[in-house]
Amino acid sequence: MLTFEDNIKPTPMPSGMLRTTVFDVDSDTVTNRQTGLVNDEPSEVIAPVKAGRIRVEDKRIINCNADVNQLVPFKYKWAWEKYLAACANHWMPQEVNMTADIALWKSDKLSNDERLLVKRNLGFFTTADSLAANNIVLGTYRHISNPECRQYLLRQAFEEAIHTHAYQYIVESLGLDEGEIFNMYHEVPSIRAKDEFLLPFIDTLTNPAFKTGTDETDRQLLRSLIVFACIMEGLFFYVGFVQILALGRQNKMTGAAEQYQYILRDESMHLNFGVDVINQIKLENPHLWTGEFREEVRSLIQKGVELEYAYAEDTMPRGVLGLNATMFKEYLRFIANRRCQQIGVDALYPGANNPFPWMAEMIDLKKEKNFFETRVTEYQTGGALSWD
Ligand code: FE
Repeated sequence: MLTFEDNIKPTPMPSGMLRTTVFDVDSDTVTNRQTGLVNDEPSEVIAPVKAGRIRVEDKRIINCNADVNQLVPFKYKWAWEKYLAACANHWMPQEVNMTADIALWKSDKLSNDERLLVKRNLGFFTTADSLAANNIVLGTYRHISNPECRQYLLRQAFEEAIHTHAYQYIVESLGLDEGEIFNMYHEVPSIRAKDEFLLPFIDTLTNPAFKTGTDETDRQLLRSLIVFACIMEGLFFYVGFVQILALGRQNKMTGAAEQYQYILRDESMHLNFGVDVINQIKLENPHLWTGEFREEVRSLIQKGVELEYAYAEDTMPRGVLGLNATMFKEYLRFIANRRCQQIGVDALYPGANNPFPWMAEMIDLKKEKNFFETRVTEYQTGGALSWD
């Protein structure tokens, strides 16, 4: 009978590479302890897994050789706390009443510009959260070698599914042409341009051959995490949130607005989790965070602002709801500065102001009064009750 140690065959490895692998004695397969993936090639075994119990100091966000199946002891409590908070925020789209939206959509009380805005808004979001889910499940999850962060990513992946469900539910409720809405990411140039910008960074992480462990690949991972959290979830989503929440503030599309409010609450936590992961990777791998790399990050965020501004112009060609594309230019600059500050690069647009201060209230539902008067806004699950 083979023992665990018998099956660990250290071999030379690329600099910084710390992958670990364990054999399954009942078959010829090998399970990588970092990724949890089954590997058919034992020759790839490159470092012995540390025997014994996990110590906090062994844990790292990337390139960790500690057993990923042992959640505790916690090192990154912020990740665990975000997981608990996200579970407490659980909601489902079909619990939101869409009756008023359906009646309004059928009436003549919405302008053509408002209808265009709603459709192009959904045109981006219906597929964006699928991209987000695939990026997490097929990409990010494999490369984050820490169990408490993975626990949050599992929850986040389900939330992306709930969001896709919410957009589908709105499309179905309003009786929109599904083919038109779900194909806008192919057919509407300003939506297509955003997705084309994102795809190479998603492809990096979801490529089965991609592995971290060298400065180059670690930087590729960090770059993709920044694009995903700070530009996709942190910038590309926010024009769309403002648009639908602005409709809700005018008592239009209140069901959709309520759904977007829950989505915004989830997404602001996805963003904050992403920022924490990025900053922790920087802390543990300071050699990755060079001046050249920081400048590259700034230019990516700048490109994101340009793409999102083009999308704002395309969804609001004449100004609508008291909103116009110029206001969004200022808002995007304000948001971009905030993203720069969160990950520690110089602000791109010093002095930019927030033209939508009410958005801050929208993120924090607990402090929000029952704005739409449709249901409790302190929506939390029974699992969140305290038993003192
Ligand atoms: Fe998200």
